[in-house]
Amino acid sequence: MSSKKTIIIEEVNGKAYCYMCTHVVDARVLVAGRYVETKPGQRCPRCQASLNAGSVMEAAKAA
Ligand SMILES: [Zn+2]
Repeated sequence: MSSKKTIIIEEVNGKAYCYMCTHVVDARVLVAGRYVETKPGQRCPRCQASLNAGSVMEAAKAA
């Protein structure tokens, strides 16, 4: 009998807010339950700043 909880992390297309150029840009978003975050290692397509500190604006989660 297993009591391990499995958290499924999904990678979806979403949008992240870039603090450097103050634009909302397309980004890959990781969704783990109700928790969402930008995928590490991405760069803003506009200003090449790291999106690691960006906040997710939108996650296109499949219902
Ligand atoms: Zn930017």
